[in-house]
This record gives sequence, C-alpha cells and structure tokens, in this order.
Amino acid sequence: MHEGSIAQNLLTIALEKAKEYKANTITLIRVKIGEFTGVNQAALEFAFNNFSQGTIAEEASLKIILSPLLGKCRECNKIFEIKKDHFICSKCQSLEIDIISGEDLYIEDIEIE
Ligand SMILES: [Zn+2]
Repeated sequence: MHEGSIAQNLLTIALEKAKEYKANTITLIRVKIGEFTGVNQAALEFAFNNFSQGTIAEEASLKIILSPLLGKCRECNKIFEIKKDHFICSKCQSLEIDIISGEDLYIEDIEIE
C-alpha cells in the first residue's frame, strides 16, 4: 500500500466535496479503512498532513475507522467476522465464503464549516 497516494486521493475527494457544499474549512474527515488493506495509519496521517498544507483541509483531522473483514457464507448466508485468515463459516463450517467488506477504503463523511 502506498499511503502517500491514498492520502492524496482522500484529500482530492474531500476538497471536491467541500467545494460542492461551498465550505470554507474542512474540520474533520472520517475515513473507513478495511482491516485487511494493510494501510499504515500513522503513515497515512503523516502524508495527509503534508498534502493538506495550504488547502482548506490543512486544519482537518483525519479520523480513521477500521472496518473488520466480513464474510458471507454461500451455503447458509450467515454474515460473520473473519478472524486471522480463518476463512470458514462460523455457523456451518463451509469454506464457500464471499468477502463482503474489509478490503476497502473510502471517505465516510466530512465535517465542514
Ligand atoms: Zn455457513
């Protein structure tokens, strides 16, 4: 994972959103990061703080929310949290599992003034 380019993307999206709402300042950006994306949070925050200098997001804090890896069983449709590469249904022990979240990264919302 390249935290630098992720930070740049997040910033671009946040700035576009802020423009849409004619905001003067972005105060907070909530980012949802899948536990399995392997993103280094400290590196991401550091990169974000660098890129945001001189923009309306320079005072914004980045709030990172880790989302767990969720799987859905193809046999019994149970949705469950996958722990440490344990790709097996917690109800019927099936190995037929679809990953439904935990590998993604997106902005949940931003707070503006
Ligand atoms: Zn199952």
